[in-house]
Amino acid sequence: MVVGDVTTGTDVLVIGAGPAGYVAAIRAGQLDLDVTLVEKDAYGGTCLNYGCIPSKALITATDIAHEAASAEEMGIHADPAVDLAGMMDWKDGVVDQLTSGVEKLCKANQVNLLEGTAHFADENTVRVSHSGEGQGSETLEFEHAIVATGSRPIQIPNFEFDDEPVLDSKQALALDSVPDSLVVVGAGYIGMELAGVFAKLGTDVTVIEMLDSILPGYDDDLKRPVKQRATDLGIDFEFGYTASDWDEREDGGIRVVADPAEQATADGGSAEAVADERLELDTEKVLVAVGRQPVSDTLDLAEAGVETDDRGFIETDSRARTNVDHIFAVGDVAGEPMLAHKGSAEGQVAAEVIASEPAAIDHQAMPAVVFTDPEIATVGMTESEADDAGFETVTGQFPLRASGRALTTGDSDGFVKIVADDADGYVLGASIVGPEASELIAELGLAIELGATLEDVASTVHAHPTLSEAVMEAAENALGHAIHTLNR
Ligand SMILES: Cc1cc2nc3c(=O)[nH]c(=O)nc-3n(C[C@H](O)[C@H](O)[C@H](O)COP(=O)(O)OP(=O)(O)OC[C@H]3O[C@@H](n4cnc5c(N)ncnc54)[C@H](O)[C@@H]3O)c2cc1C
Repeated sequence: MVVGDVTTGTDVLVIGAGPAGYVAAIRAGQLDLDVTLVEKDAYGGTCLNYGCIPSKALITATDIAHEAASAEEMGIHADPAVDLAGMMDWKDGVVDQLTSGVEKLCKANQVNLLEGTAHFADENTVRVSHSGEGQGSETLEFEHAIVATGSRPIQIPNFEFDDEPVLDSKQALALDSVPDSLVVVGAGYIGMELAGVFAKLGTDVTVIEMLDSILPGYDDDLKRPVKQRATDLGIDFEFGYTASDWDEREDGGIRVVADPAEQATADGGSAEAVADERLELDTEKVLVAVGRQPVSDTLDLAEAGVETDDRGFIETDSRARTNVDHIFAVGDVAGEPMLAHKGSAEGQVAAEVIASEPAAIDHQAMPAVVFTDPEIATVGMTESEADDAGFETVTGQFPLRASGRALTTGDSDGFVKIVADDADGYVLGASIVGPEASELIAELGLAIELGATLEDVASTVHAHPTLSEAVMEAAENALGHAIHTLNR
């Protein structure tokens, strides 16, 4: 022990105050456990400070400006002026409101808050270093630990995030001026969401993607309207390329160089590149959004005997336990899908297991949303996953162009699709592309969770005119009796 060092103890130590860690801590507090939450940066983690919330705030704000400017068909002629500083202030206000709420909720649930960076000294002890000169460190002994240290963006060679024109998503969400041009490296959900934000602010956006399509992992029919609308917004795509380097130009901008990728199909089926020659793109900024990696390498996990897989994710069982019985891992650091609500669900389970409750993680009805324009939302199994799992499937689909409410919003691209077990009608999965897909998917998640059948969804009366009627009609379509579309 260092001279002057203080040692304290806690029943439950939570490392990281993102949506996985703070939810675990609050739940532990509710269960009367003595809990300490250590955070090195900001309450709310990536999600509230640099991810979900600021990105959705800017998506909403730029949507409003864009929609107002494109509503001539509705008889509205507007040319909104965007004050970026004002927009950023509003976004920061939303973030502040939520993060201070997290801090208050933690305190109200008797969670001890500790600012600092934790790393393991052994399997029952962490050391917490406080930032700032002369702030020192302290030792904390624990009965149980929950690791919730999240993830960080993956860097690619030659694109260091602290080089000024090279941005990660956090920096892109805090720019103080709208760039004239932006190259986005990576057409995953973060790259596509931010490409849309900047295109709507008037930036000339080009997306480079090593695979042959946007949003790997999503079905083509869901991606099609998103790609079409991005193209309509003026976003250019260069598929089959990897960004390899960049250089400053004499006029102050930069030139991004991209080489043909070796493997260029989203399904990994072909090793042939779609592109065959080097690409050079002149731009003001470049945003690198090629994925995220777990923050597990700065924790001295080996001192506690906690193992990770070869990508650095901490492996856990269905009760969020690592290979060390009393140490749990939740959220992004514990693996895919790296989504806030998955982390929060795991955080609750970890706290409940520590409190000897019969809790376990169920990924069966885990929704995923991409907040592009239009939005994509999925839950449960896709048709092909259900087929692969051995189900005889039946599907139903309802196009939003047949929805009265969608037409009244002026946004009717997209559809709702339901996958069910043909034998007994149980809903197995659903996918939606279109306005408010992020909200509509909740009903279908509940259907899966409750073991509802197509008949249950179809016979639930939905208010008119609402987008949610499309969910009911998709279920009716699977049963062969949708009213507002032809049944197959
Ligand atoms: C631009 C962007 C948009 C996103 N949009 C969405 C979305 O719309 N929906 C969605 O579900 N997900 C979204 N995500 C993903 C989401 O942010 C993450 O899945 C979520 O934040 C993970 O939560 P977590 O608690 O596991 O980790 P984090 O939120 O990353 O929190 C981990 C915390 O641990 C702290 N920490 C790390 N190491 C230590 C240490 N040694 N000691 C003390 N503290 C430590 C960190 O400072 C951090 O605050 C988005 C991400 C980004 C980047």
